[in-house]
Amino acid sequence: MKMKMKEIVSQCRNITSPFRVAKGKGFRLKDFDPGDTLQFSEKDKKRAKEALALGIKALAELQDKLYAQDKWAVLLIFQAMDAAGKDGAIKHVMSGVNPQGCQVSSFKSPSADDLDHDYLYRCMKVLPNRGHIGIFNRSYYEETLVVRVHPECLAKQKLPPTLVTKDIWKQRFEDIGNFEQYLAHNGVVVRKFFLNVSKKEQKRRFLERIETPEKNWKFSASDAAEREHWKEYTEAYEDMICHTASEEAPWYVVPADNKWFTRLVVAATVIETLASLDLKYPEVGQDKLKELAATKKTLLNK
Ligand code: ATP
Ligand code: MG
Repeated sequence: MKMKMKEIVSQCRNITSPFRVAKGKGFRLKDFDPGDTLQFSEKDKKRAKEALALGIKALAELQDKLYAQDKWAVLLIFQAMDAAGKDGAIKHVMSGVNPQGCQVSSFKSPSADDLDHDYLYRCMKVLPNRGHIGIFNRSYYEETLVVRVHPECLAKQKLPPTLVTKDIWKQRFEDIGNFEQYLAHNGVVVRKFFLNVSKKEQKRRFLERIETPEKNWKFSASDAAEREHWKEYTEAYEDMICHTASEEAPWYVVPADNKWFTRLVVAATVIETLASLDLKYPEVGQDKLKELAATKKTLLNK
């Protein structure tokens, strides 16, 4: 089984490395194809799904150790345009993990209480405990995306006017970078996913939501209206990745036009990340072993 895990991890690395961005300098979104599926063709879809099932099993095994060891915490951040498949990726990839060691937090438009604080406040409150995996469905990165594209969002933040200058985005990137470094120094391992969907595929998914009664609830006209700002969002995402990719908290620019492939890349990244932590079940000392043997004897004699 040990060998098997090693093999799985090495395969994971082959799948994730083309999409990993750990140095932002020179990053261009146009170099990443939303339709990329590496060596897997549509014909291999079944094989990819089998690999995903195997990966999910491996992930459960690793999570069990993460939880038992109770030292590291893992924070997975998901950012994307609407209908890129964040919810589905989270649901599928985490389907095998023990819910007791995993929390998903979704960040929507900020509440009055959120707006009464600095922007990291609402995220800090739900950082994962040691031994846990925390998932952010959207995150503090919205502060450099929707808030940048829509100046009215920034206006609502009640910041002292002298602090709102042209440098504000640069300052936010720096602050986020420092915050993620702080997390890394505290044993919180951060991995960030940008699910990269094309404008064409987003349109197809919106139409599917409109035409399928079971999917109607997912559709919102305001999401479709956001398409008018596609170019601004693309520029904001590119600038964000450029300034916040780091070795300790890399971005993964995951092709998102094919859901089966998106899920494979995300699962592979999580497995690779957990495997890199050299997780072990806590060792039991001599005293504890003696105690276990004595209790066993008592139980068997009763
Ligand atoms: P779905 O794919 O189901 O639509 P979602 O993540 O888009 O999921 P929504 O209910 O649409 O969920 O709400 C998220 C909305 O909240 C997004 O439009 C996002 O831009 C907005 N939002 C998140 N953080 C902030 C923020 N800090 N300031 C302003 N708006 C934000
Ligand atoms: Mg939405």
